[in-house]
Amino acid sequence: MKELVDLGVMVFREKNSRGSFKPHLSVKFRSVEGKLVTFSIDTTRTPAKYQQPDAYLITHAHSDHYGKSAMLSERAVCSDKTAIALEIRHERKYAGRTFKVGDIIETCGVKVQTFPNFHTVGSTSFMWENELGTRILVTGDVKDASMLPECDLLITEANYGDPGDATCYFDDDISGFENAFRDHPSIAFGAYAFGKAQRAVELLRGLGYDGTIEMEDQSLSLTRGLLEGAGELACLGEGCGDCISIVPPWDLEKLPSRMSKFVMTGRSDYRYPAIQISDHLDARGLVTMVKDIGPEFTVVYHPSGHRPGRFAKHLECIGFNALSIDRINNVLSNEFV
Ligand SMILES: [Zn+2]
Repeated sequence: MKELVDLGVMVFREKNSRGSFKPHLSVKFRSVEGKLVTFSIDTTRTPAKYQQPDAYLITHAHSDHYGKSAMLSERAVCSDKTAIALEIRHERKYAGRTFKVGDIIETCGVKVQTFPNFHTVGSTSFMWENELGTRILVTGDVKDASMLPECDLLITEANYGDPGDATCYFDDDISGFENAFRDHPSIAFGAYAFGKAQRAVELLRGLGYDGTIEMEDQSLSLTRGLLEGAGELACLGEGCGDCISIVPPWDLEKLPSRMSKFVMTGRSDYRYPAIQISDHLDARGLVTMVKDIGPEFTVVYHPSGHRPGRFAKHLECIGFNALSIDRINNVLSNEFV
């Protein structure tokens, strides 16, 4: 089986000024023109006095992917919608470059293809080749891998990647969502402002609801800024009275008690009934994704905690060559320095 060095790629983690590892990782390789290039992935910005990577790739605007920090660098690269989401969420100006998901962009002489992964509005997977022809694919978090290409080095996530954990197996309960919507004339959905709230609006419009949807302020700004075809949206209390509301889960209790309340979540620790709607692949979906992509080597880089290790181990058990982020040290191999 091929090792990372055979693929002409070095994967490493940088340390911050306190000596601990920065989030996620960086990839060093030679471009097709033979130039040494470093891409940092979903990590925080390196202070200006230190050597910068050639690009900070930001897969999407969830806070555990650190766009809040990387967005301030001119070397940041993310989709137009991710940039909008970062600006709304963090009230900062995005300083980097943007693209439309599906575009091919060139950065530092490297042609980078971009693909949708349907995790959030604007979320992006990136792929490029190095001088050996190794195709390197960074998925970010994935909801639907059907548009992702085959590759040689796969850098992916394991949010629900522990095959021994029953909570890592689920199906979206679309019919539960539909029943809740049809059975309750006055209804509120608890959904995180970025990601879930837009999915709730898409689902409601998909079910044919064309009335006003009231939303909490940030959910409203994000949905207006990001979602085409969102239909009539309004601030809380400014809609038509008995319409549908979408607020973050912890705001449900602030809404009138006459409303029926549900939380869109995989968790079961809310006081309101949960409707399982996930922004992620489950354990089976992640394995199917890896099999379909067929990499020579897989690096599991997200989230923090034990799941990348469990998923990498499982991939090894079923015949893939895999490494999890907790086993990456930041020693630069001689070939690359
Ligand atoms: Zn995410």
